[in-house]
Amino acid sequence: MAAKPSAVEIRVYQVGFGDCFLVSFVYTASERRHVLIDFGTTELPRGAAPSQHLPRVADHIKTVCNGQLTAVVATHRHADHISGFATDGKSGGAGKIIAACKPRLVLQPWTEDPKAARDARTATADSNRSPRSFVGSLNAMHRLAEHAWSVALKPPAAMSATVAKQLRFLGMDNIKNKSAVDNLIAMGERAGARSVWAHHGSSSGLEKLLPGVQVHVLGPPTVAQSEKIRKMRSSDPDEFWQLLGGAQALRGMRVAPLEPGTRGKAGKAVPAEARWFRDRIASLSAEQLLEIVRVLDDQMNNTSLILLFEVGGKKLLFPGDAQIENWSWALQDAPDHAKTRKLLAQVDFYKVGHHGSRNATPKKLLWENFSKRNRASGRLKTALSTLKGKHGTASKKTEVPRATLLKALQTETELVSTQDFPLAGQEPCQTIKIKV
Ligand SMILES: [Zn+2]
Repeated sequence: MAAKPSAVEIRVYQVGFGDCFLVSFVYTASERRHVLIDFGTTELPRGAAPSQHLPRVADHIKTVCNGQLTAVVATHRHADHISGFATDGKSGGAGKIIAACKPRLVLQPWTEDPKAARDARTATADSNRSPRSFVGSLNAMHRLAEHAWSVALKPPAAMSATVAKQLRFLGMDNIKNKSAVDNLIAMGERAGARSVWAHHGSSSGLEKLLPGVQVHVLGPPTVAQSEKIRKMRSSDPDEFWQLLGGAQALRGMRVAPLEPGTRGKAGKAVPAEARWFRDRIASLSAEQLLEIVRVLDDQMNNTSLILLFEVGGKKLLFPGDAQIENWSWALQDAPDHAKTRKLLAQVDFYKVGHHGSRNATPKKLLWENFSKRNRASGRLKTALSTLKGKHGTASKKTEVPRATLLKALQTETELVSTQDFPLAGQEPCQTIKIKV
């Protein structure tokens, strides 16, 4: 085995609105190590079926890695990043193909650690500020997302078509994907494999498996490190957290379908907090419900792992869907932020954050800090995995990908965008080669 890689190949898979990147570290012609970063979609171009397309992608990954993955990274729990790991029919069993490649490490953010949800020792006097409560609230989101999604499937007359469409999309992305989550856990529990749940400054576990590669975990921060990742933009944060607490209390309980004015079945033994939640949800307008689901969506994005690979002097940045609240710890609040910014200034490859949304590539602190933009040679390479028309609206300047960012990527970097290559064809991916 060579001491360090001589090249890195990044395969950008066509998964529509989602992410799937296979990073291959080339040591010699016959020695390669492969790290799969995310595998999911919430919508494929031209209505292709995930049950057919995802196994095709998985088979391609299996061929490229010769049936052996070094590691699997799931940056965060959103469907568009993990649905391909599911082993059920919806994914066409794609997750079984990945599991058969026997990854030696499964890397996820600390919020996915099953212990984080039950380890009471980490709780503080104020339970709303504890990691346990934070993880609990992430789980509660799935419940709320399910409600939002079911309402939007059969929208009441008062709900506009635009609101219903966005509720369906965001709702679907936030519904818990149990099959994928279970497979990620099982892959990490296999004999000879292990799971790592990482946070800012912690070890990724990847370095032992990738000689000559240094991996910096820049995000997410823990709750103790930063309150920002749980900061809500709701006008009344207390009420918002009560809402989440109530949603949690409702877990496992049948709730009346969500229709404006519906109050659920009277006389049922429902805990007070859950009753409050049920009644509150029932009286929300569609716009309010959409706003809450959006906040939940942002919150989950902010649990994204942010990984920076340093290999032979080249720096490769994979930030998942991390938004500004996650980034701000690494970029300006953490004690080592000056060092981090120096490292990031040298980035050679950037996986564009959150499918090109406006708040996942902090303009001043990250984008303008990339010193290799606009270079004649050695220009910054970028990869954008996205599908337009799914998220946000141009009139509010929230469309994904954001037009201004896309323009900057096209003019200042060497961009590979999944919007520019077909779903079908010889290969379901494009490859970026980097000499290191
Ligand atoms: Zn995403």
